[in-house]
Amino acid sequence: MILSDCHMHTTYSTDGRSDMESMIQASAKKGLKTICFTEHNDHGAGFFEGGDFVVDTDAYYEGYKRLSEKYRDEIEVLFGVEIGLMEKEKYFFDEYVKSYPFDFVIGSSHTAGLYDPYYPEYYTRFETVREAYRYYFESELKRAEIFDCYDSYGHLDYALRYGPGKNSDFTYERYADLLDPLLETIIKKGKVIEINSSGYKAGMNGPNPAVSIIKRYHELGGLPPTIGADAHEISYIAYEFDAVEAILRQTGYTSYSIFRNRERTEVRI
Ligand SMILES: [Zn+2]
Ligand SMILES: [Zn+2]
Repeated sequence: MILSDCHMHTTYSTDGRSDMESMIQASAKKGLKTICFTEHNDHGAGFFEGGDFVVDTDAYYEGYKRLSEKYRDEIEVLFGVEIGLMEKEKYFFDEYVKSYPFDFVIGSSHTAGLYDPYYPEYYTRFETVREAYRYYFESELKRAEIFDCYDSYGHLDYALRYGPGKNSDFTYERYADLLDPLLETIIKKGKVIEINSSGYKAGMNGPNPAVSIIKRYHELGGLPPTIGADAHEISYIAYEFDAVEAILRQTGYTSYSIFRNRERTEVRI
């Protein structure tokens, strides 16, 4: 069983809907042994739906210290962050991740180049949806080559959540010329990928990334992924983790990874 959820947001994130204490209590009630908060820091990405998605890390760390201590006998609570990878912010994030005692850093592409695949306009820049997805994966490849300051690459096929038709037309083969080097780069640098179960609630019938990507990652020698539901409220904590566990087994894994103090350990399922 997967008893750890290592991707979650609270009201310290611009889009979080449950406060930290509620998230801890709900996680303990679900029987989880370990959780890791990963508040958003999309420094440099600009405004998005009325917010800048930059956590007040000092306030977040203070709240974390108090509450992780308060609940220490009930559940292990780890201190993480989800950074929005953008080439122009490399030096900022290299320094930022060293400025706080993070256990875990998720690197995510919430943008492709300077564009945001969340918005329908992103897709109008390209002749076809496939080209829009190619551009997204190209951008991720560039970032995988440039960035070293993260531990796990978050929701690798995030753009598929928002494109017209979502992932209905996706096959690994169609993008293999980009996805193979992307996975190889992540693996070569000793990083891992994340299995993010929020794809289920986004109407994708599967996690991000797609099972075919996880399978190829395993074939290429990828270390066990990290697991997170990307909950922004208590009801989505550990969402669809039974399905994620089945996918881990199906793709060849018997364990998943957890980071503490930026060091990776493996937990058997
Ligand atoms: Zn969010
Ligand atoms: Zn994200």
